Amino acid sequence: MFGENTYIVFDETKECVIIDPGCSNTYEENIVKEFIETNNLNPVLLLNTHCHIDHILGNSFIKQQYQIPFYINQHDEPVLKSGESIAQMYGISYTKSPVPDKFIDENDIIKFGNTELNILFTPGHSPGSVCFVHHDSKAVIGGDVLFNGSIGRTDLPGGDFDILQNSIINKLYILPDEYVVYCGHGEETIIGNEKHNNPFVRLVNR
Ligand SMILES: [Zn+2]
Repeated sequence: MFGENTYIVFDETKECVIIDPGCSNTYEENIVKEFIETNNLNPVLLLNTHCHIDHILGNSFIKQQYQIPFYINQHDEPVLKSGESIAQMYGISYTKSPVPDKFIDENDIIKFGNTELNILFTPGHSPGSVCFVHHDSKAVIGGDVLFNGSIGRTDLPGGDFDILQNSIINKLYILPDEYVVYCGHGEETIIGNEKHNNPFVRLVNR
């Protein structure tokens, strides 16, 4: 119902991490499951870029299905805990997310298979938003920080435009122009495009 993007990141070893499983019913859960089976993947880690309800709806399913560790940034723990009341507010069914097995921060590196993901702490849309960067393929799993032609909303509890703007300028816009950002909603974009054309946060004459 939210149109949220789930990412399954894997390499030649077939180990994969599941990021932001938004699946909220059996139909959507089966899409994730079948993708993993069809590609012979071996899930090793569940990650959330942040813990808004649309990004955590499938946490419980993934944990139950694959019994893998679950990591978030600590500053989004209150957001995760508010999941049940938010789901009630929206009138949607939500199986409570597992509690995180570990908190991740900017200096940590996510390792699986032959792959390393670097972490950027990018608060503003939520207090504990993070982005996962894969430098080898010039890719960023960006959550709801920066969108194609837009930015994450800052009117939800814990949101702050100035902090978000700072995250975008000082963490994302310093990446090379050709880096692709895979967003939590909608189409992907590239850093260079947003840096110059984003209507909300852009760098002028740089
Ligand atoms: Zn969000």
